Amino acid sequence: APRKLAAGNWKMNGTLAALAEIDRLLADQPAPGCDVLVCPPATLIHALTARASGRIAVGGQDCHANASGAHTGDISAAQLLDAGASHVILGHSERRADHGETDAQVRAKAEAAHKAGLVAVICVGETEAQRDAGQTLDLIASQLAGSIPEGATAANTVIAYEPVWAIGTGRTPTTDQIAEVYALMRDRLSARFADGAEMALLYGGSVKPGNAAEIFSIAHVNGALVGGASLKASDFGPIVAAL
Ligand code: 13P
Repeated sequence: APRKLAAGNWKMNGTLAALAEIDRLLADQPAPGCDVLVCPPATLIHALTARASGRIAVGGQDCHANASGAHTGDISAAQLLDAGASHVILGHSERRADHGETDAQVRAKAEAAHKAGLVAVICVGETEAQRDAGQTLDLIASQLAGSIPEGATAANTVIAYEPVWAIGTGRTPTTDQIAEVYALMRDRLSARFADGAEMALLYGGSVKPGNAAEIFSIAHVNGALVGGASLKASDFGPIVAAL
């Protein structure tokens, strides 16, 4: 079975003072029964890596598709690795919406991440309008086909399903709605990749201590990508414990 992963996405939140939450998390969860990943703003990757001393993995929230060059404000996969990251979130819906990232661009970034030796956490998910129009499964299938590069393996790629309408809203899909998407994802990944059955699949969108156990009980859900509730050890700790 895929390894279980509890991942936190701090988004554009936190300064050095926020690393006190990592101390609390490590104190509360001295021996978590799953892998734990925290993806802070890029400014904190190096300090968080030092603070975590190998007990949790650290990731970026985006990288450029190119290895280096004239791309003001961007960060390469090798630079994330150099700062201490082992993972990078790619194709988050906020980047797809705010920066117009396409499946092809996400795929190119994932190739760059793999080349640098990072695990790519590739995000997919439908908007509310797409769900209402009955397009969810087709959309997820086409995002998977377009965003995941050929060289993806269970070792270098994690997939996160994040319904856009569930992010930061307190709303979550029903157990049946989640199960339907994960069955499709597992099916497509197994058909395309030799070890697709082993690729970890995360759920993201309003995961809280109160709903984590139920979500983790759904077939093919191997963990979570947590936004708001990853910012405080008192919320993220119980989610890690539930996994
Ligand atoms: P919330 O957990 O705040 O809904 O955010 C989910 C998310 O976008 C994680 O990447």
